[in-house]
Amino acid sequence: MRKVAFIGLGNMGGPMAKNLLRAGCMVTAFDLSDAALSDVASAGAIRAESAQGAVEGADVVLSMLPAGKHVKAVMLGDDGIFARLPVGTLVLDASTIDAATARELHEAARLSQLAFMDTPVSGGVAAAQAGTLAFMCGGTPEAFARAKDVLKAMGNEEKIFHAGPDGAGQVAKAANNMLLAIHMIGTCEALAMGAANGLDPSVQSEIMKASSGNNWSLQVYNPWPGVLAGAPAGNDYKPGFMVDLMAKDLGLAIELADQSAVNAAFGRQAHAVYTALQDEGLGGDDFSIVMRSLVKTFS
Ligand code: NAD
Repeated sequence: MRKVAFIGLGNMGGPMAKNLLRAGCMVTAFDLSDAALSDVASAGAIRAESAQGAVEGADVVLSMLPAGKHVKAVMLGDDGIFARLPVGTLVLDASTIDAATARELHEAARLSQLAFMDTPVSGGVAAAQAGTLAFMCGGTPEAFARAKDVLKAMGNEEKIFHAGPDGAGQVAKAANNMLLAIHMIGTCEALAMGAANGLDPSVQSEIMKASSGNNWSLQVYNPWPGVLAGAPAGNDYKPGFMVDLMAKDLGLAIELADQSAVNAAFGRQAHAVYTALQDEGLGGDDFSIVMRSLVKTFS
């Protein structure tokens, strides 16, 4: 039986750990939150008292933590888990973090002779629960072959990508979410303009889905309330995918664009839109709430 240590059991990590249990893995778990830990323990995971305790005897280590500083705190330094793992252990960090920190972790793992991959996800909490996440992985082909075997318990096998070398998973994730923010805002603007000029948003959505404006935000996440059953727009913009997380991801994308001298003007504009929503106190709402700021009659 595969022994997996799972660190970070929040909205995403909790259901991911449960899917590993369903796939027959032995999961030893740790989270700073007792409630998060109890939830996965009730599904069959073994509770650990620390990250160091969780990784004892593990073949594979997975982390799903908020940001780069949390991943570094768990993995690096004298108290970090890298110093405790046997040579050759596979370590997968599925958190969304900055590519520079991911590369730093790769370098440290290499010095400790560990197989590390950055493996951020796309799909959100619903896909984490359903075991249908997409994974974008950065690191060596050898580590990828080992990683895929574990990740398929939490995601669709055809959506597990080897993005490229160290940090490439985080680069792919930042690029994808920058594009997502831009087409969500564009979709909101197009629907608002149509409605203000007498179009029924449902009819307009059907037209654009069959035309060159078609995109994911329109197809599976329509931001106009009531057009698409199950979309957060119809549930008073409860997440879904929070404004706070989109603002964080856009911050990472812009940092990356700046470091590589790419003029990501629309990404920057999207970041301004989402940080303004945070300033309005809407950080905990779904990222499609951009629609409401364009059509005030919704609120
Ligand atoms: P979350 O805040 O719900 O969970 C993070 C967990 O990490 C918490 O339970 C927290 O207690 C724990 N934690 C923090 N520091 C720790 C430490 N030192 N040791 C052990 N546990 C610690 O966040 P989430 O929504 O699960 O997101 C996790 C990651 O996945 C983030 O990087 C996020 O950007 C990314 N992500 C989230 C979504 C989403 O829809 N929620 C989608 C894709 C990617």
